[in-house]
Amino acid sequence: MSPAPLAFVDEALAELRRQGVFRPLRVLDSEQAARASVDGRSVVNLSSNNYLGLTTHPALRERALEAVRTLGVGTGSVRPIAGTMALHMELERRLAAFKRTEAAVVFQSGFTANAGTVAALLGRDDVIVSDELNHASIIDGARLSRATIKVFPHGDAAAARTLVAALPRTQKTLLITDGVFSMDGDLGALPALCDVADEFGCLMMVDDAHASGVFGRQGRGTVDHFGVHGRVHVQVGTLSKAIGALGGYVAGSRSLIEFLHHKARPFLFSTSHPPSVTATCLAALDVLESDSGLIERLWDNTRFFKAGLAALGLDTGRSESPITPVIVGDAALAMKLSDRLFALGVFAQGIGFPTVPQGKARVRTIVTATHTRDELTFALDAFAMAAAELGVARVS
Ligand code: PMP
Repeated sequence: MSPAPLAFVDEALAELRRQGVFRPLRVLDSEQAARASVDGRSVVNLSSNNYLGLTTHPALRERALEAVRTLGVGTGSVRPIAGTMALHMELERRLAAFKRTEAAVVFQSGFTANAGTVAALLGRDDVIVSDELNHASIIDGARLSRATIKVFPHGDAAAARTLVAALPRTQKTLLITDGVFSMDGDLGALPALCDVADEFGCLMMVDDAHASGVFGRQGRGTVDHFGVHGRVHVQVGTLSKAIGALGGYVAGSRSLIEFLHHKARPFLFSTSHPPSVTATCLAALDVLESDSGLIERLWDNTRFFKAGLAALGLDTGRSESPITPVIVGDAALAMKLSDRLFALGVFAQGIGFPTVPQGKARVRTIVTATHTRDELTFALDAFAMAAAELGVARVS
């Protein structure tokens, strides 16, 4: 008898279990907050991208509820047919103003914003020159586009320049980096890449998923942080992380945005956000533009927590942002560390291959503006205990 058609799935799962990296889903049974209930246990939550605590902000809740009452729960159509509400247009105007660009377009997620945009901009005859640690959505977009993919070593703008310089000048070339790298917390080489793009006439694109709401004035992202306004043709951001809701967007010139209206497949073929999501994002922009204290608290907490991890001698890599990895190398050890932390009351996910390279497994931490000092101190004590018990190597 031939094997069951899904037998390969069971084999793959068995292999993950053998490697010690099979992960059941952790389930939140409370709000997404700095202290949360996960799998029935109250934990200090260092695993969310809820940088500013906006997932539970009263003003955002109120606007979402008002939108449900006045506009319903869904749009019933894709944007180009009947799914564009005045609220969507208002959010896009606000995002463009926030990013200091002519226009913006919202997608269902950051993932679809990246993948849909890269695939729309490039074709079979074009080239994408991409940082080796760029997000999966950029890689998937590049594959969909059928462009030639050239990868430069992480953060190495000189290597990117060498790649670009070797290309025929007639080929359309997209140079692309994450603004903040989600697994290491370091910044992309944006200013130096802008120099390369200027020199060779490349399209320059940045994925600011983890930078919007975190870096730059009032959280405007890395383009603002580095002062490279006008030199990045395509800025992607998410509405799913610091903004607290869901979605992604592209900000750029009016013609770029009109092009995406006609060519970006997730925009063309997938239903638009419900009004509550869009209204929530508008309220989040109001908060960002009026309350600078939130971003200050995020950075105060970030500095405090990083200093604490460094004092424990743990390997925190090259982070420059609220994302701080504790790199342990072996994937099974990372999962054990994460499990032990969880037992001690701290939720920090273990991350292994393929999300990070082989041998670079880690427990990733993200602090938010809403963690208290007591919560962060509690988490540091748990790291000290768990790392000692498991013999996690120290770098200092
Ligand atoms: N880019 C980066 C760098 C990310 O980390 C993520 C989320 N993991 C995304 C894009 C996708 O964003 P979203 O969750 O809104 O789809």
